[in-house]
Amino acid sequence: MVAGADAQRAARALDEHWYAGLDEDARAASTALVDLDADETACPACGASLPGGPDRPAGALRCPECGLRLG
Ligand SMILES: [Zn+2]
Repeated sequence: MVAGADAQRAARALDEHWYAGLDEDARAASTALVDLDADETACPACGASLPGGPDRPAGALRCPECGLRLG
């Protein structure tokens, strides 16, 4: 468990660890599947539908289901 201000830093470290663990093909697939300019896109990790286009929150987009960072 982490608390307070460490939570975001821990989440970022987990994202980087997740990405570093992928092989080249998986990295290419994970980025190719995410079209952040589309009206709606799906999380490449868990398949949850994510808001896009004008509904997309400013800044980094994070999957609400699995926490994968997409932007
Ligand atoms: Zn997800």
